[in-house]
Amino acid sequence: MTVLVIVEHADNKLATASFEQLALARGIAGKQNVIALLIGGERPVAQTLLARGADSVIVGSAAVFNGYNSDGWVTCAAQVVREHNASLVLAAHTPSGADLAPRLAFRLNAGCATGCVKIENNNGTLLFTRAAHGGNVRETLHFKTDTAVATVRAGVYDALPADTTRRGEIVELSDAPASRIRVIERKREDSAGLRLEDAKVIIAGGRGINGPEGFEVLKPLAELLGGVVGASRVPCDLGWCSHAMQIGLTGKTVTPELYIAVGISGASHHLAGCGNAKTIVAINTDKDAAIFREAKFGVVGDFAKVVPALTAAISALPKTI
Ligand SMILES: Cc1cc2nc3c(=O)[nH]c(=O)nc-3n(C[C@H](O)[C@H](O)[C@H](O)COP(=O)(O)OP(=O)(O)OC[C@H]3O[C@@H](n4cnc5c(N)ncnc54)[C@H](O)[C@@H]3O)c2cc1C
Repeated sequence: MTVLVIVEHADNKLATASFEQLALARGIAGKQNVIALLIGGERPVAQTLLARGADSVIVGSAAVFNGYNSDGWVTCAAQVVREHNASLVLAAHTPSGADLAPRLAFRLNAGCATGCVKIENNNGTLLFTRAAHGGNVRETLHFKTDTAVATVRAGVYDALPADTTRRGEIVELSDAPASRIRVIERKREDSAGLRLEDAKVIIAGGRGINGPEGFEVLKPLAELLGGVVGASRVPCDLGWCSHAMQIGLTGKTVTPELYIAVGISGASHHLAGCGNAKTIVAINTDKDAAIFREAKFGVVGDFAKVVPALTAAISALPKTI
């Protein structure tokens, strides 16, 4: 079976999620073909994709494709799928991946599963597992179509180590397909620092932090632990922080070593994005909050007192490492 991975990148900086999908694709395809489709990237980056598990890379350079454009990308991906007879297309579960996948599936008359946490090749039958009913259950899907398109949540598969001895064909596309969409302007959100998806420590704030100023209490703890600050959906919807910080079913999936949930009740929609964290710590005034059922350690108390006390106590620890 041929598996096509649609690569996600920002100015040729490849997303870790794409490496994870190449590893997944490699496992599913076995000795058969894994193709990486790098749209809007440059040829030198293609070698990295070969090192991470692709057998060949198709490059639509930035000069030909100018940034993400759903119409142009779908047409391009559909052509590649048809030419190479790919049975499975994988994309990252990001805003652009989740935009592209259903459109591509519709164009190809293919099945589509977004937000997958597991994809298996069961003797030629592809099985797609993902959260359903607000994260309360997991469903496993199988499609009767010849082709399936799926987005995969970040952090659920391990990338393959880079093998720079791997070689493969790199093909450049000379033309971008005609598009009915004209992008007038792009604004990139300021995203300096570590990405939530890559962070080993996350301090996440919920409605219980009571306003944007609550994040100022969380930041020193995050800095001290070398982590980043995230949020449940409520602070994002209320405009207390950027939507890029949202963790959960409709936000990002994170897999840190340590996840400190501050003023977060522990709704299934939130846990769908952080339930795979290695250690969850909860700080909440309500001793019956659902988050305590998921947490390894918990503090019942007001975050405005607990978080500064925790920050001060950690700062006072001897720096032995
Ligand atoms: C289709 C769908 C998708 C969704 N996707 C997401 C998603 O991606 N991510 C997400 O997070 N949610 C998502 N939600 C919303 C989700 O269901 C919950 O409503 C949301 O997670 C609740 O956020 P919260 O825990 O911050 O707020 P609340 O549920 O209101 O909890 C606030 C908590 O703060 C505690 N608290 C109050 N004051 C303090 C204090 N001073 N100190 C400490 N603790 C305090 C309270 O006891 C309470 O437990 C989605 C919902 C739907 C329907």
